[in-house]
Amino acid sequence: MAYSDAVRAEFAGEIEGIREKGLYKEKRFIWSSQGAEIDVEFPEGAGHAKALNFCANNYLGLSSHPDVIAAAHETLDDRGYGMSSVRFICGTQDIHRELQDRVSEFLGMEATLLFPSCMDANAGVFEAVLGADDVIIADRLIHASLVDGIRLCSAQYDTFKHMDMKHLRKKLELHSDKRRTLVVTDGVFSMDGDLAPIDEMCDLCDEYGAMLLVDDSHASGFIGPKGRGTHEHFGVMDRVDIITTTFGKALGGASGGCVSGRRELVELCRQKARPYLFSNSLAPVIVGATIRVIELLSSSTERRDKLEKNTAYFREQITAAGLNIREGETPIVPVMLYNAKLANDMARDMYAEGIYVIGFFFPVVPAGQARIRVQLSAAHEKEHIDKCVEAFRKVGEKYGILGLDKKGIVDKYGL
Ligand SMILES: *Cc1c(COP(=O)(O)O)cnc(C)c1O
Repeated sequence: MAYSDAVRAEFAGEIEGIREKGLYKEKRFIWSSQGAEIDVEFPEGAGHAKALNFCANNYLGLSSHPDVIAAAHETLDDRGYGMSSVRFICGTQDIHRELQDRVSEFLGMEATLLFPSCMDANAGVFEAVLGADDVIIADRLIHASLVDGIRLCSAQYDTFKHMDMKHLRKKLELHSDKRRTLVVTDGVFSMDGDLAPIDEMCDLCDEYGAMLLVDDSHASGFIGPKGRGTHEHFGVMDRVDIITTTFGKALGGASGGCVSGRRELVELCRQKARPYLFSNSLAPVIVGATIRVIELLSSSTERRDKLEKNTAYFREQITAAGLNIREGETPIVPVMLYNAKLANDMARDMYAEGIYVIGFFFPVVPAGQARIRVQLSAAHEKEHIDKCVEAFRKVGEKYGILGLDKKGIVDKYGL
């Protein structure tokens, strides 16, 4: 027997090692639909309990929006459940084309190609448009799915220090002998909630004849005055060459993603991107519901405006309560605790107070940068946010960290 007891023990030992390092991810179950208030089973086997959710990517509160659910039902009845085909064989309905056109219009790009997820979009795009004579220069903190996609491509890979434009310029200079250069960044970085300086990056790309790819997964739908993304926020909507993004966060939260950008680059993805060619077509239900999401967001900025208000209110209140947050303007608000055990313990106590948040520590964030990441949503009401802040105040008081800066917390708990 190949899967012998010895082999089993080896794998079990590896899992034990993950546990010993404190990196084991516990199972958590949600017994309700996604929303501001959810029904959580944690730990596994415990009775489920109501909690306010402050850790979803449900930025616009559309995951369970009645209009979106209605659109999903209608599309299910009308177009069936599955396509049982990849796009280029018999998996493309008119609604796939319609969604692509709507996304292009919403993002202000020339063309769009749907993928089963943004992870798949990122897995396919680099290999489809670049080759061995080219170079990719990426921010050092880009999302794991971009790193994986870059690994699949034969272009040379280099990085620049996080959001350091002087360093990017140096790297552009260094690689000026390459055929083509693609600069890569997240629009909003998911762990710190900081915005990449897309405008400056456009200027540098112009100067050095480089192209720019922005993964706007944590921005599409709510960053910028009309929620079009970081390129709108920085006033450079016609200057970004490729945007990749997900429908699995603000835009309904089910799944799906896309590459949106210059016509020829999108066409090359259609011809060559392997997840497009070899993975099943996005389900009609998701396509129909995402079309409705784009309609909702195109007709009113009400939801992104409410999210902006909620974000400003939370940032102000949590700071007044004496907690230490990373400054910024996005709905990703890291409450900095630096010490991993402290982040973990406080998150557990927050859950006991009815607030569902998660502690993040190495390797998800750099060592010594442990935190509880709070994510605001347009689904939150003022009383939800007040309850969250009050819980942070109570738990922060228990651990004696209110009013302490980084040095104060590190002196008390270590790194
Ligand atoms: C979430 C995320 C992805 C993955 O999106 P999926 O559609 O869930 O695969 C890709 N890039 C970034 C920056 C993300 O935050």
